[in-house]
Amino acid sequence: MSDLFSEAQALFDYTRGIRRDLHRHPELGFEEVRTAGIVASELRGMGIEVTTGLAKTGVVALMEGARPGPVLLLRFDMDALPIMEETGAVYASQTPGKMHACGHDGHVAVGLTVARLLGIHRADMAGTVKIMFQPAEEGLGGAEGMIEAGVLENPAPKYSLALHLWNEQPVGWLGVGPGPVMAGAEIFKVRLTGKGGHGAMPHQSIDPVVAAAQLITALQTIVARNVSPLEASVISVTQIQGGDAFNVIPPSVTFQGTIRTFDAGVRQITIERFRQVVHGVAGAMGCQAEIDLRLLTPAVVNDAYMAEKVQNAARTYLPEFKIEPAYRTMGSEDMAYVMQKIPGCYFFVGSANGEKGLMYGHHHPRFDFDESVLPRAAALMAGTVIDLLR
Ligand SMILES: [Zn+2]
Ligand SMILES: [Zn+2]
Repeated sequence: MSDLFSEAQALFDYTRGIRRDLHRHPELGFEEVRTAGIVASELRGMGIEVTTGLAKTGVVALMEGARPGPVLLLRFDMDALPIMEETGAVYASQTPGKMHACGHDGHVAVGLTVARLLGIHRADMAGTVKIMFQPAEEGLGGAEGMIEAGVLENPAPKYSLALHLWNEQPVGWLGVGPGPVMAGAEIFKVRLTGKGGHGAMPHQSIDPVVAAAQLITALQTIVARNVSPLEASVISVTQIQGGDAFNVIPPSVTFQGTIRTFDAGVRQITIERFRQVVHGVAGAMGCQAEIDLRLLTPAVVNDAYMAEKVQNAARTYLPEFKIEPAYRTMGSEDMAYVMQKIPGCYFFVGSANGEKGLMYGHHHPRFDFDESVLPRAAALMAGTVIDLLR
């Protein structure tokens, strides 16, 4: 066991205590008042300079090393989800309808543990560590809010780092490599307008339900027939609404969903064809189509130098880790906005344990992870920082 990992293990009770307390008291995006209060008071207790209230509930800590050097940004997200918890854990949510079902309680606990580990090694560090505890990662714009609040200035970071505990893989697995690792995501809403009428006399109507059925099927041909089979693209229609009665053809149907891509060219083809297919099929069916398509997050693209630094830190401090350098997921992350400006590395730390029943996916009501991942994730993050600022 490396020294840094032993130090993280020695803090395990602290880390787990923070995680379980936050898990009992989940807070949704931009409402992380209690969570941010704990983060700020823990950091102040370590003698660290803290700024609060960025993007409502964000907290930023600044740790100076013993000597001058580059500024590194570490990011941890704090928000829970509107899900009714079904884990039955002793530390289960005490707020019905809210749950830490993505593991951000673990991220905060890891972040505070990293601060404590770096405190031990401050004398070896040439540079400054800026630790950003961010609100509202789950599609609400927390990272953009923190950027607007100035988190990337005074001092401006040279590099950035972020992680996700990852229940798709077991403890001991690490997904880290260069290039795109999480997809860019858009949200689309489509309204098809026809002409309503009696369900028994369809020839007197323009039926938007039949048009929507044709269209949703046709949209799948974009991925199958317009995007190269060697590239990745997803179009998912996830919600559809129209009509109130069995015998009435409704005047309009709306549906919405998401597009996911890694590559800018693939994204452009997918969106271009999406618009053509929607308007073309709607027109062929005699309907009008309105499209509202907007960017949720760009792709998360890892800097090659930073990805190598994380891989090397894993080999040094957690040699038993199995590293998967080509891992990618079609999930999305608002850390992408930070990494568009500050080169960095986003990595995935396997957190599942099937034998303990801790393998439900992120956002599942029974999601929970193996807490033994916490000191590992903290040692890896702290080790990467120490190596970068040596
Ligand atoms: Zn999530
Ligand atoms: Zn998450």
